[in-house]
Amino acid sequence: MAPDAKCPLRPGDMCTLCVPGATGPQDCPTVAEVMRDLDLRARLAELRAEYLDEVRGSRA
Ligand code: SF4
Repeated sequence: MAPDAKCPLRPGDMCTLCVPGATGPQDCPTVAEVMRDLDLRARLAELRAEYLDEVRGSRA
């Protein structure tokens, strides 16, 4: 059963346990890998900002 948590890597999406062995974002190896890498973390921040802009734009 998928956890009741959002995927940190896919803004707006729930965690679907797409990585074998993960029980949620807290022990997802892919999330850990992205968070360890400065460039990937920066790109993720951009994606999150774009997502928030989209969400806010659709509410305006
Ligand atoms: S398993 Fe990891 S990459 Fe997959 S949806 Fe969950 S948190 Fe995101």
